[in-house]
Amino acid sequence: MPVSKSINEALNRGSFIRKMFEEGRRLKQQYGADNVFDFSLGNPDVPPPPEFQKVLEEEARRTDPMIHGYMANAGYEETRAAVAATYSSGVGLPFEAGNIVITSGAGGAMNVVLKSILDPGDEVVVFAPFFVEYGFYIGNHAGGAANMVVVETDDRFLPVAETFSEALTERTKAVIINSPNNPTGVLYPPETLATLGSILDDHSRKLGRPVYLISDEPYREIIFDGLTYPSPFKHYDHTLATTSSSKDLSLPGERIGHVAISPSAADKEELEEAITFCNRTLGFVNAGALMQRVVTRLQSVMVDVGIYERRRNALCSALGEMGFEFVRPEGAFYLFPKSPMENDGEFADFMRKFRVIVVPGSGFYGPGYFRICFAVPDSTIERSLEFFGQAARELGLG
Ligand code: PLP
Repeated sequence: MPVSKSINEALNRGSFIRKMFEEGRRLKQQYGADNVFDFSLGNPDVPPPPEFQKVLEEEARRTDPMIHGYMANAGYEETRAAVAATYSSGVGLPFEAGNIVITSGAGGAMNVVLKSILDPGDEVVVFAPFFVEYGFYIGNHAGGAANMVVVETDDRFLPVAETFSEALTERTKAVIINSPNNPTGVLYPPETLATLGSILDDHSRKLGRPVYLISDEPYREIIFDGLTYPSPFKHYDHTLATTSSSKDLSLPGERIGHVAISPSAADKEELEEAITFCNRTLGFVNAGALMQRVVTRLQSVMVDVGIYERRRNALCSALGEMGFEFVRPEGAFYLFPKSPMENDGEFADFMRKFRVIVVPGSGFYGPGYFRICFAVPDSTIERSLEFFGQAARELGLG
């Protein structure tokens, strides 16, 4: 066997999202791309904002000596300072460049954080349903001997104080939250964050060390209904945000993101040093130079969120009328309806006969649901509705 046992096992377990994406590709080859309605992968179709192209061209033309050279592993000082200033004004805490480490996307950010803090036997709490890569990210570190603890949420996909408290142990090292959420689109309200913060405060006090809150927030700019993003930094000192420009600037292939360490976090200098070291030694070395320079200048720019909101509205009203049940997403670009069939895998198979590709909720530890990603053209949504309708009628919804 050319690959390690653990990787082989992971490959066998695979990812539902990738599987469905591959299935979509197969169907597109067979029926033509226009005749397949692929809602599987969160790969934004909305173009980056026009400012991006302009700044990219200007930065690419620069010829300063060493412009393509190595830099400090935490990233360019100007980039870190620009990101810090954005947090300071948005969150209202005094972030400095030293609180920011520029990374290869949010995935890179999570990995450098987890590598920095996990020891064998440590536990990391996640709330179901969740972005399934978290399990792999946790497994990447502490020699694969850290454990993921999955905690159920309520019927609105929000954490429940009691269930959460019960999941905390003397081995809890960190808790991961993700708002707006993939796969549910749910935005955690300030009250939920305050509750989590107070439980974590108590638990950290009891343990005599901080339990870190890792707030994975790559969708925080994609919010609807005029809402603003409730930041966990305001509710808990030992918070680290991991995020990227993958969704808010539609640049997932460019791999640019960062970690932000709360200025109020215990051991923040040590964390910064460890995270910077892990950025280097996990082989990222530093995030790509050109994109760092570009995002330095695009701190207040984002994609046209109205496009996602319009699609959210269209899907919710059409699917709602057909009898599908769901929590109306307040952000991100996912809808997570109840599966009309008991087995969500069977429902995804059922939808495939209409050439509609959705991902079973089980792929996110959310059995009994399915995920629709609406980062797809409006026409895909419009043309797919006929088939969702047909499915709803055949299954006796509404
Ligand atoms: N976290 C969540 C919740 C995501 O949905 C994704 C990507 O889809 C990531 C992290 C990874 O983002 P990036 O592409 O910036 O690494």
